[in-house]
Amino acid sequence: MLISIQKLGSDRFEFSGGLFTLRVNRSWCENLHCYIAVRVSSKRQDTQRRRRKLHEELRGLSFQPLMRGSIVDRMRRCGRAGCACASDPAARHSGKYLSVNLDGRTVAIHLRAEDEERVRRAIEAYRRLWEVINGLTGCEVADLRREARERVRGRKRGGGGAG
Ligand SMILES: [Zn+2]
Repeated sequence: MLISIQKLGSDRFEFSGGLFTLRVNRSWCENLHCYIAVRVSSKRQDTQRRRRKLHEELRGLSFQPLMRGSIVDRMRRCGRAGCACASDPAARHSGKYLSVNLDGRTVAIHLRAEDEERVRRAIEAYRRLWEVINGLTGCEVADLRREARERVRGRKRGGGGAG
């Protein structure tokens, strides 16, 4: 939440956020400044904690099989001589396939029942990898925003220097 602080007079300040407006005198204002400073530094620590956790998970994921693609059901012919599936489309067997686009071409690879779980885990790890990358992107964005806010606050206090 963004909180704006406005000076109303020599001893009166107004804090306003999305849902509130608070008018206070100078000593209250100084206490609130202190409170906001604590909140800002704890937000930075939250971001660092989140980033550390995500990096740990990223390391874990890097040791696992990772795979794009999806598992699809398809009707197939088994190829056994004399099986009804050879001539009757309705008698075809349902089978699991890995469908994945590689180098611009979608390939379908038949999965034996014993391979399905392994492939499912690799696809899930890939999906989780993207969530981790999203989380890390969120950390970087949070840092950039917080740093920009801190620069603005520094300038308002009369720091003057460009960040
Ligand atoms: Zn068959």
